[in-house]
Amino acid sequence: MPPSIPRAGISALSCLAFAAAFSATAFAEPGLGYEDTPIIPGTQWHVHDGLRPQPRIVTPGATFSDLAPPPSDAVVLFDGKDLSQWESLDGHEPSWKIVDGVLEVVPANGQHHLKTKTRFPDFQLHVEFATPAEVKGDGQYRGNSGILINGMYEVQILDSFNNPTYPDGQAGALYGQTPPLVNASKPPGAWQTYDIAFESPRWDAAGNLVTKAVVTVIQNGILVQNHREFFGSTDGINGIPHKSLGAYHAPHPPEVVIELQEHKNPVRFRNIWIRPIGAYDLPGK
Ligand code: MG
Repeated sequence: MPPSIPRAGISALSCLAFAAAFSATAFAEPGLGYEDTPIIPGTQWHVHDGLRPQPRIVTPGATFSDLAPPPSDAVVLFDGKDLSQWESLDGHEPSWKIVDGVLEVVPANGQHHLKTKTRFPDFQLHVEFATPAEVKGDGQYRGNSGILINGMYEVQILDSFNNPTYPDGQAGALYGQTPPLVNASKPPGAWQTYDIAFESPRWDAAGNLVTKAVVTVIQNGILVQNHREFFGSTDGINGIPHKSLGAYHAPHPPEVVIELQEHKNPVRFRNIWIRPIGAYDLPGK
């Protein structure tokens, strides 16, 4: 059950507590989201709640895993040369373009995502992205893309540098579910890194959900999601209505595709690779 303390009270207390320690902290921003959406279970917040506390800003170091070469057991998904690992959602040639070794979204209708041709088990994914240097739009309409795991679970990409929006929709958020621990975003046009560990949900033979999907996200060297469960599919993608509550609708295999979201903004990508997490105590060779 949500606490009975009014959210305004929480915000005021939080403000007092954090203001003493952090000068760059931002707090509840009215008018940024919705309050007529479902309450997220286990929280006091609505889906895309504009009054949810804005994550504290942390300035990343200059580099972290930028241009990190792939490990020996990684599958290289994009190395600047071609899109041989990718296809459109309906299995055709991708519509995105490669310019000087960089992959760029070609804005369309918001449905022209890229999808890997192959599926991957529980994985470690390295992705580098840059939101447009030329700032256009506000909120969700500025530098929006995303890592759509199996087309179901979105780790949001957004220009979240001086661009307030509902916290569960900013960069590093599990969209519509969990804001990032902190705002680790670099300025528009700057290359940023996501290093993501993802464990698929599991169902038993009878179709009962046994474990939820779990994700850890490091953005620009800063932990923004710490072994966090997805409550289910995230809203607004691939047929899940925007502003609806995340849910697990049907079992799927642990092997999943990776999608890069086309959200009408020319976000750029480079150096994408993925490797299996594997298991402990497996024999080597
Ligand atoms: Mg997105």
